[in-house]
Amino acid sequence: MKKITVLGATGSIGVNTLDVLARQQANEWQVYALTAFGQVAKLAEQCLAHRPAYAWVGSAEKAQELTQLLRSQGSKTEVLHSPADLCRLCDAPEVDAVMAAIVGAAGLPPSLAAAQAGKRLLLANKEALVVGGDLFMQAVRDNGAQLLPIDSEHSAIFQSLPDDPARWQTDVEKIILTASGGPFRQRNPKTLGQVTPEEAVAHPNWVMGRKISVDSATMMNKALEVIEAHYLFGFAPEQIEVIIHPQSVIHSMVQYRDTSVVAQLGTPDMRVPIALGLSWPGRTSSGAAPLDFKALQAMSFEEADALRFPGLQLAWAALRGEAGSTCVLNAANEVAVDAFLKRQLPFDQIYRVNAATLGGLQPGRISHIEDLLALDQEARAFALGQIAAAVTQAA
Ligand code: NDP
Ligand code: MG
Repeated sequence: MKKITVLGATGSIGVNTLDVLARQQANEWQVYALTAFGQVAKLAEQCLAHRPAYAWVGSAEKAQELTQLLRSQGSKTEVLHSPADLCRLCDAPEVDAVMAAIVGAAGLPPSLAAAQAGKRLLLANKEALVVGGDLFMQAVRDNGAQLLPIDSEHSAIFQSLPDDPARWQTDVEKIILTASGGPFRQRNPKTLGQVTPEEAVAHPNWVMGRKISVDSATMMNKALEVIEAHYLFGFAPEQIEVIIHPQSVIHSMVQYRDTSVVAQLGTPDMRVPIALGLSWPGRTSSGAAPLDFKALQAMSFEEADALRFPGLQLAWAALRGEAGSTCVLNAANEVAVDAFLKRQLPFDQIYRVNAATLGGLQPGRISHIEDLLALDQEARAFALGQIAAAVTQAA
């Protein structure tokens, strides 16, 4: 039996992963470890259902709470909570695969540990790659890890590219990432300052965690995905395009030198890329409903409006900037989205904080992952300063 660690098990991707795992043959996968940050009751339920050897939570208090809950139900799952333990659950010799589904840069150390140990790494945690960049990809290559993209667009690109990576640079003209346009595709841009967290997290096509839902509403999610595509597949920034496709049926496309376009289609259900990550190079059941072409009727496309979605362009600005710029952009965005969700920053100011931090902070020399982790902290502090200034100005 193959053993898997699911990081971020209590989140949207984590829950979908456990659903797909439960659909596989009983003797195929064994859950080695499940992790969460603070949702103890939900993690306890998952531990009782999947019987992992280990569970991990973000503090000693939460660990004690979880241990008590599990012991009262007769569960033997061992509970851990230190950052070093989180990495150990990813690089332990028994582990075959890791689902990286923590949200934000917090997921970088354990994802990197899995890459450095040469595991099969199912990467949903795009922020880890946006922060880690080339150093992360180097660790994947040096240690023979199998990196399988879970982000639906990148799974689509992966499926649409030639099997032989040597042909990616010779045969491909560009890659085209599709975007739904989120909940504000048709909203008057002048009213974006009044958007509430409830409106921003109500995505038309996908049910996701709060942070990525806000990112979809600003289209910073697509900006992060442009950066993710650059690092994953090695295409130059100018070879990556974005097109709005409100139906979310085409998950992304590859255009070849001869103008031929290869796309991957399906219903918007994250269990499809998750199932592929588990079964690649084979296929397995995902539980998703197949596309009904007769009900679909039409597919439409439109350009992303730069006035409504100014954040999208920051992807190319960061990719053309110094090494570490994508780390700076990600840190600013995490801090700005958090402030928006806490009702401390208006929705339309997220872009201003991101742009000001990207433009205002010099990354310095980046040689090691530790340099990026330090830069991440520095950029967070810078962005918090920008938020404080924006709030003072508004008052
Ligand atoms: P959720 O917010 O639903 O879940 C996040 C998970 O991470 C939870 O298990 C949470 O624990 C845990 N977590 C949060 N903070 C920390 C931390 N500091 N340390 C350790 N664990 C932590 O997010 P999603 O599932 O929506 O997204 C996860 C990742 O996948 C993101 O990077 C996102 O961009 C990416 N992704 C998601 C898609 C989706 O459809 N949801 C699609 C494509 C990519 P707890 O519940 O206890 O707080
Ligand atoms: Mg995506």
